[in-house]
Amino acid sequence: MVKGVFCLMIIVLIKDAEPEQIQALYASLDSYGVTISDIPSASATVWCVGGDLSSIDIEWVRSNSIVDAVHHIRKPYPIASRSFHPHDTIVEVAGIPIGQGHVCVIAGPCSVESEQQILAIAQQVKQSGASLLRGGAFKPRTSPYAFQGLQAQGLSHLLQAKKATGLPIVTELTSLEHLDLYADVDVIQVGARNMQNFEMLKQLGRCDKPILLKRGMASTLEELLMSAEYILAGGNHRVILCERGIRTYQGITRNTLDLSAVPLLKHDSHLPVLVDPSHAAGIPWLMEPLSQAAIAVGADGLMLEVHNDPENALCDGAQSLTCEKFDDIMQKVKAYAQFASKVI
Ligand code: PEP
Ligand code: MN
Repeated sequence: MVKGVFCLMIIVLIKDAEPEQIQALYASLDSYGVTISDIPSASATVWCVGGDLSSIDIEWVRSNSIVDAVHHIRKPYPIASRSFHPHDTIVEVAGIPIGQGHVCVIAGPCSVESEQQILAIAQQVKQSGASLLRGGAFKPRTSPYAFQGLQAQGLSHLLQAKKATGLPIVTELTSLEHLDLYADVDVIQVGARNMQNFEMLKQLGRCDKPILLKRGMASTLEELLMSAEYILAGGNHRVILCERGIRTYQGITRNTLDLSAVPLLKHDSHLPVLVDPSHAAGIPWLMEPLSQAAIAVGADGLMLEVHNDPENALCDGAQSLTCEKFDDIMQKVKAYAQFASKVI
């Protein structure tokens, strides 16, 4: 290991290690001035050792009688990294698998606007084959004068739509203050603007719900994976990543969909990766080619904004698909998924 360079090592101890043996090994490692953190694991003691590891002989660690395995990781996101977990993670949401071999489509309006609106859209997207329903209740808006979402009332309309259709729901959390209201939400979305809200990520690491983590609009893939690491390090292993476009200099689309992020993330990490072409492009007719492209590069699913009256939508109407167009895209996406030997 190179001197002066930050490195990480994951050490897995055998199940029946004695506390005294654990303490002795801990003290020896600690004497090198490294940081040793516990990685929550139901079956064994697992440590993440970080710092300048150049003076620690990995073979010395490996030969300790209570050490089961040692993984040397050069990435600053050990738990999210594929070197820690070589197989793809499948995140189950109410029995729906998200990850390797499946294509999951999350559809619905940008914001919940009324019970009638979310119910009508939920029924339509379900009929077209969406597996989860989206809808914002607490909306992070650039302007303080723009519609901020129906908030708690919006959540209760979403829950009504879940009850009526059986579709699990995905909705964004904009502040930890509201977390108690999310008890019956199936997937908590962390939006692009909160990707680096580290206190929120830490708290979600302690919560027992799948988290859909969207990439910040000016964040690198490494930063996205480090944000995922915050949630994983807290013990919540149900993290789904989402590429939603990044800011570039071109001004035709709302953002630029970084399709290369999908294979890159899947190469470096075992977590499922979804693509949101709606916020990436902001133009409805681009949804079809971008959805197909996302599946072609290996995305585990899509998030698409769908509205039954886009012209009068209170948020993101201009980028929303009509229910009819969504149905059309779903038929094409199904054919594409089959072509890629994936289950949809
Ligand atoms: C959304 O999905 O409603 C949203 C606000 O997306 P993003 O955080 O990617 O902008
Ligand atoms: Mn939106």
